Amino acid sequence: MKWQRALRAAQAKGEPLPAMPDLAPVSINLDLTTACNYACDHCIDWDILNSKVRHDDEQLRESLRQMRDRGLRSVILIGGGEPTLYPGFADMVAFLKELELQVAVVSNGSRNDRVLKAASHFTKGDWVRLSLDAASDDVFRRMHNPSKKTLSLDEICGWIPQIKAVNPDLTLGFSFVITWQGGSRGDVKVVENIHEMVAAADRARLAGFDYISFKPFLERQEDGAEVMDPQKTAVELEAVIARIQAAVGEARGRAAAAGSDFKVLESTNLRVLTAGNWRDYTNQPRTCHMQLLRQVVTPLGTFNCPAHRGVDKALVGGQSLWADAAAAKGETARMLDGFDASRECSQVTCLYHGTNWWLESLIDASAPLPVAAPGAERDDTFL
Ligand code: SF4
Repeated sequence: MKWQRALRAAQAKGEPLPAMPDLAPVSINLDLTTACNYACDHCIDWDILNSKVRHDDEQLRESLRQMRDRGLRSVILIGGGEPTLYPGFADMVAFLKELELQVAVVSNGSRNDRVLKAASHFTKGDWVRLSLDAASDDVFRRMHNPSKKTLSLDEICGWIPQIKAVNPDLTLGFSFVITWQGGSRGDVKVVENIHEMVAAADRARLAGFDYISFKPFLERQEDGAEVMDPQKTAVELEAVIARIQAAVGEARGRAAAAGSDFKVLESTNLRVLTAGNWRDYTNQPRTCHMQLLRQVVTPLGTFNCPAHRGVDKALVGGQSLWADAAAAKGETARMLDGFDASRECSQVTCLYHGTNWWLESLIDASAPLPVAAPGAERDDTFL
């Protein structure tokens, strides 16, 4: 913030601009691969899947070392692509833990043998979340189109007790993207799954997951931004929201009646959708400060935000950008100055809306900057 204050003062006076401090993002999304063995109807990263481009493993590790030395604290292994398909998946988890980073994984569940292989490396606060989105094999297969046609939810969930047995500290989540009639990925109509929410929560609890997380379906608009478009429904939005709220309530009631610690969670997107104030989150300041705090490292390059993964205008640099930290800082400063979030993210229900406006107000104010940010005591560095 000190740097941003000095930068704006220098810009106003036409003086030489101060260099960016020796910082790297606190948290990154790391796409290990673009390969995927599913063909999900609701996939947000459809256009970048299964490219021929690969990470150079040693360059990637050098990037991660350089970032860790400049403040990186956590890594989420996620997609555009299925992270467990990376040939050295368990080795990469071990390497990240050697760097003393918090590590999380978002997986489609098809290679839980590899999650099991990596399980012993995780520590308390780390998590693995499986994107399953269904309670029945019929809906699961129609939504995900796994390459192994006989893959079942019983088979995927059967790994959970084994993974927990190896490492009880690892938090395991069942992710459920809620879809409803009228949603689509381009011309592909999505399969509705609201009617399976309660049964999925039961399935997750009985399988030994720690929680189920419900979130609404997102789409990519033409410019590549990831947006929530709840108006796109074949039935009244109010009726869709009422069904979702009833299902969440019933799932919570059943979990409570079972007397377990299992949690039924709603994502921020879902909470603002059901509260009716989701449009408030599409109003961003010109500068997105999150671009410095969190970036997305993929085989196709390093991007400023998951909401713009794979989009040219959001490209900060190459896949191993941070192996050359000086160049990475220069490119990050360029992006902070040049990417107009008030325009590029004006349709995105941004989870960091409040953080960006809070940081903006601190830069604009003349009062001394606070010594510590609120929430530092939470010991959770994922962004
Ligand atoms: S304003 Fe929000 S959606 Fe836009 S780049 Fe920043 S974090 Fe991403």
